[in-house]
Amino acid sequence: MPSKKNIAIIGGGPASSALAIHLCRQGYKAVIFALPERAPILVGESFVPMIVPLLQELGVEAEVASYSVYKPGACFTYNADEVFEFRFADTPSDLPSYSYNVPRDRFNATLLTAAQDAGAKLIARMVQLSRVDDTDRIALDAESLQAAAGCWDSAEPDLIVDAAGRANLIGRLLNIPMQKGPRQDVALFAHVDKTELVDPGYVHNDRMDQGWCWRIPLPGRVSFGFVVPEAYAKQHGETPQEQYEQLLKTDSVLQRLAPEAKRVTEVLRFNNYQSISDRICGENWIMLGDAGGFVDPVFSSGLLIALDSAKKLADTLLENKPLADYEALTRRHLHAWFEIVGYYYDGRLMGSIKAGQTMPVNRFTRWLLAWVSARVSRIFSGAAASNPFCLNLLRFLVKYTVIGLSPDRYKIK
Ligand SMILES: Cc1cc2nc3c(=O)[nH]c(=O)nc-3n(C[C@H](O)[C@H](O)[C@H](O)COP(=O)(O)OP(=O)(O)OC[C@H]3O[C@@H](n4cnc5c(N)ncnc54)[C@H](O)[C@@H]3O)c2cc1C
Repeated sequence: MPSKKNIAIIGGGPASSALAIHLCRQGYKAVIFALPERAPILVGESFVPMIVPLLQELGVEAEVASYSVYKPGACFTYNADEVFEFRFADTPSDLPSYSYNVPRDRFNATLLTAAQDAGAKLIARMVQLSRVDDTDRIALDAESLQAAAGCWDSAEPDLIVDAAGRANLIGRLLNIPMQKGPRQDVALFAHVDKTELVDPGYVHNDRMDQGWCWRIPLPGRVSFGFVVPEAYAKQHGETPQEQYEQLLKTDSVLQRLAPEAKRVTEVLRFNNYQSISDRICGENWIMLGDAGGFVDPVFSSGLLIALDSAKKLADTLLENKPLADYEALTRRHLHAWFEIVGYYYDGRLMGSIKAGQTMPVNRFTRWLLAWVSARVSRIFSGAAASNPFCLNLLRFLVKYTVIGLSPDRYKIK
């Protein structure tokens, strides 16, 4: 199989920049086609710990730390008085004991600059893609090729990477079906001046009357997002702003968390985000990051998948392996998160954690709990989300430890 060394990457988000950095360092020729971001705020602000080594490898951790909020853990609140706190420092010592809550516009800019420093060429234009007749190949429009003239060893790139996020450019062009997730939720997202916080660095997750909300502390403000069933959102108005404001006034949990919150940004609305593309690669194209699939905001897995997939794709190309190998790894990672997220929504994950917390304490149960949590925490830190042993252990726990309890107590409506 010929090497693919001349790469066109569409999109200027983290997946795109990370891929360009990895490849350019190895002498590949990467061209990023991207326009300046127009959205007032960007989602994806809370990172899991396993992103830290990826940031270190990309050489950007110190810069990211300089404008982000240090994140020592996470907490999940149910029924007002039931708070599950997780400090990353309590996880096994080979895992990072912290992560970051990150203003995403600055993070994207950091990575894009690092990609250019590594040698990637940035071209500010919206490419047009077309299918090459009767083939599985796609092509860039003539103007884009002209703008990139001289950047590659050939007139056309060897590989076109769709890293344009949920725009899913290649999937739409080739009519590739998306496998949808079970939830029909809407995420309403804005920044506010302040909310209650259990810890000033935690990512906070609270079950609402229906759905759940996140609070992500950022410098000088809090990202406050509501993930609610579509029908519930519609009962609260038409526009994203009406729905956000009405929910803030009427949902009992939001009232308790942020009775005096003042919104400092527009409200953005996302829906239909739980989906995985039926195909992720073709003859001369590949999808990277959200373009290939996105699972759910609840465990902040999006950036991890984006950056981890960028590294896996770079390794696949550098080792001259078939693109299908990368597709299989990415698909496994996405499906694993789909399953894990399902245990959050149906209440069995927290039910199982509660069962562990209420076990009689003796030397054996202390040892058992430490053994189990060391392995399960590898999933949620992002270190072993698709590791078969850890995943099977989680399956066992959510099936058997909740017997006799009522996991519905933790279900998300
Ligand atoms: C409601 C919600 C909350 C989330 N919260 C979190 C979280 O807390 N933590 C987390 O890790 N993840 C979170 N995510 C997921 C996270 O935002 C994404 O997984 C991550 O941004 C994916 O990175 P990416 O580079 O693949 O795509 P993106 O970040 O979407 O970047 C794609 C880029 O391509 C550009 N683009 C689009 N079309 C074109 C085009 N035609 N030509 C050129 N450029 C184009 C876009 O403008 C954008 O800059 C959340 C997602 C949602 C929906």
